[in-house]
Amino acid sequence: MNRLSNAQLAELAGAESDAPLDVTRLLTTITDNLVGMIYRCRVDAIWSMEFVSDGCHKLTGYRPDELVFNTRVSYDQITLQEDRAHVSRTIHRALEKNESFDIEYRIERADGRVCWVLERGVGIRDASGRLAWIEGYIQDISERVAANAMLRETVRRYSSIFEHATEGIFQTTPEGRYLDANPALARIYGHASPDALIDHLHDISRQLYVQPERRAAFVRLMQEQGAVRNFESQVYHHDGHIIWISENARAVKNADGSVQFFEGTVVDISERRQHEAELEYQASHDSLTGLPNRSLLRDRIEQAIAKARRDGNRVGVVFVDLDHFKLINDSLGHHVGDRLLLEVAGRLSSCIRSHDSVARQGGDEFVLVLTEQHGEDDTLAIITRLLEVISQPWVDDGREYGLSCSVGISCYPKDGDDPDALLRCADAAMYQAKASGRSTYHVYTPELNQAISARLELENSLRHALERAEFRVYYQPRIDVASGRIVGAEALIRWECPGKGLIPPDHFISIAEETGLIIPIGQWILQEACRQNRAWQRAGLPPISVSVNLSPIQFRHAGLVQSVAAALQQAELDPACLELELTESFVMHDAERINVAMQSLKALGVDIAVDDFGTGYSSLSYLKRFPVDRLKVDKSFVRDIDSDPDDAAIVRAIITLGHALGLKVVAEGVETMAHLEFLQQHGCDELQGYYFSRPVPAAEMEALLRGTAASASWCASQRSA
Ligand code: C2E
Ligand code: MG
Ligand code: MG
Repeated sequence: MNRLSNAQLAELAGAESDAPLDVTRLLTTITDNLVGMIYRCRVDAIWSMEFVSDGCHKLTGYRPDELVFNTRVSYDQITLQEDRAHVSRTIHRALEKNESFDIEYRIERADGRVCWVLERGVGIRDASGRLAWIEGYIQDISERVAANAMLRETVRRYSSIFEHATEGIFQTTPEGRYLDANPALARIYGHASPDALIDHLHDISRQLYVQPERRAAFVRLMQEQGAVRNFESQVYHHDGHIIWISENARAVKNADGSVQFFEGTVVDISERRQHEAELEYQASHDSLTGLPNRSLLRDRIEQAIAKARRDGNRVGVVFVDLDHFKLINDSLGHHVGDRLLLEVAGRLSSCIRSHDSVARQGGDEFVLVLTEQHGEDDTLAIITRLLEVISQPWVDDGREYGLSCSVGISCYPKDGDDPDALLRCADAAMYQAKASGRSTYHVYTPELNQAISARLELENSLRHALERAEFRVYYQPRIDVASGRIVGAEALIRWECPGKGLIPPDHFISIAEETGLIIPIGQWILQEACRQNRAWQRAGLPPISVSVNLSPIQFRHAGLVQSVAAALQQAELDPACLELELTESFVMHDAERINVAMQSLKALGVDIAVDDFGTGYSSLSYLKRFPVDRLKVDKSFVRDIDSDPDDAAIVRAIITLGHALGLKVVAEGVETMAHLEFLQQHGCDELQGYYFSRPVPAAEMEALLRGTAASASWCASQRSA
């Protein structure tokens, strides 16, 4: 019974207002109906109860008569053993001070259940003033204690989450101050503790966010939508470096709907961002050179076009292809090829301005995107510089290499208004530059397409030229200066293409090289030259040496030595009557390997000449070690020998050098008497050129050898002199 019964209430309410108040009865009523237990006990060791109210039964499970005068148990006994000392100490202390006490402890009920009680009491003295009793009230507070424990546990759990979360947790004001932060947040932002963070950061948008607008956007979203999800921003770490964070937060609002504060979580996503950036970089950049790749190139061209459209200017798209890269890569190995590409990437980058781009399109192809071009002159100025920069010799691992590239240029808006069209045109122009002798540039024109289809047509016809027996060998005599005799002849190929007449080698050798057709063609001319030379010998003509030009592609081909041996054997020609010509630039590309191949050729007994000498970058030490017999001075030096002192000096130097190395020196392109006299005067050994004879068909060469042809007059006059 924890309430007054209706009868008792009615009795209280119905009492005559003027009837005297029976206080004893009232107190008895209250005492008997109280939920807790009112008591009076002695101040002795076991708290002997002299009186307990009816509530005793409900509280302890013992009837009042079982507790009073310790009939069955003492109150001390039902007080839980562990709490007794504390209870006694607290009560005695209060009694000494004449104060009332309040104490919570546990009792063990008659049914064995333990419950929490709150006892409030006060000491009562007897007539002599001695502390004799305690009177007070004890109530069951188990429910409250349990609820508190639960609350404490909940708080503990939540604060554990708060304290130990790996996410940063925060509460901030809309003005940008911290109300609360957890250790993880302090850690993420680089502060020693949450307090340190809260103290330090009092203007979040300025102190924390790299872009204060980002915080403004956060606040705006909070106000408009009440929450943000995965809101990513860059913030300053306490030590100054920048990190990426992602926030999830909500606005906590007042009753009037205004924002009270924000609360949410923060995770450090720097690593993910870094990883994403790396992936993006890898997907858009070439791994070797670090330059933008094909796909980023397209973006760059598109951006450049969009900007040029706005600004009313032009975009230059420049296709750059290294000359003879394949040769270097195949013969020297990929590691050298890679180093070369890196070198070229660096050189190209040095030619452009900050708003231009250079990308690697693939292989040895690079593309420049030139922005803010006002006219063709702007572009050509850059290209001229580029060709110059690329053509600087490259030194790798102590060796020097000559470099060059072929460049094709297209332009927005003239040649197209999308990346594909511009790249196609620049590519076509680049092919044209290659076809016109490399190391040069070509600007795209619509006619180029015709040139390209013409080239394709030529390539097609070339594939059938051998089987259709369309090649001819012309011979150009080589004259010995001392005797004036024809001592040799250079075999030079011609292509008699139906409908196109006689095509010179410059027009098709490079196509033959690119397509690989040079191998069978080269073999054919070797056989033909050997056969022809032997035929002249058989016809009783004075023996001469015939020289055959070798393409670098043939030289790299494994079967070269065998095919030379076979040609000699087939023709039954003395190897001493065959000379092989190699161009200088090629010889220097892969000196070691070429030396080995040259030695095997030399072992067959043939002669070896270095052609076009002076145009490449020769290393004297290699030249000395190579089994070379002749140097052929390039005709470009001979042409102005009598008017250009530099050329004259170069030729003199080559002659001296050749002789110092024990080599014979041949001059090509001797066209005039003046050329002849100069070369004769400076000790050149042999001469070749239009002055004596143009390259001629075998029959005419035979006539020269017989001394019957008109053009042989000089030889004849020399011989008779
Ligand atoms: P090259 O080996 O340096 O041949 C000399 C070139 O100079 C020849 O051109 C010849 O006609 C030309 N020439 C000779 N004398 C004079 C002169 O007095 N003045 C001028 N201006 N030029 C003169 P051609 O026959 O057009 O050959 C060009 C190049 O084609 C050759 O240069 C050679 O590198 C290549 N070539 C020719 N035949 C073959 C071949 O069978 N195989 C290979 N791989 N290349 C060949
Ligand atoms: Mg030659
Ligand atoms: Mg030459």
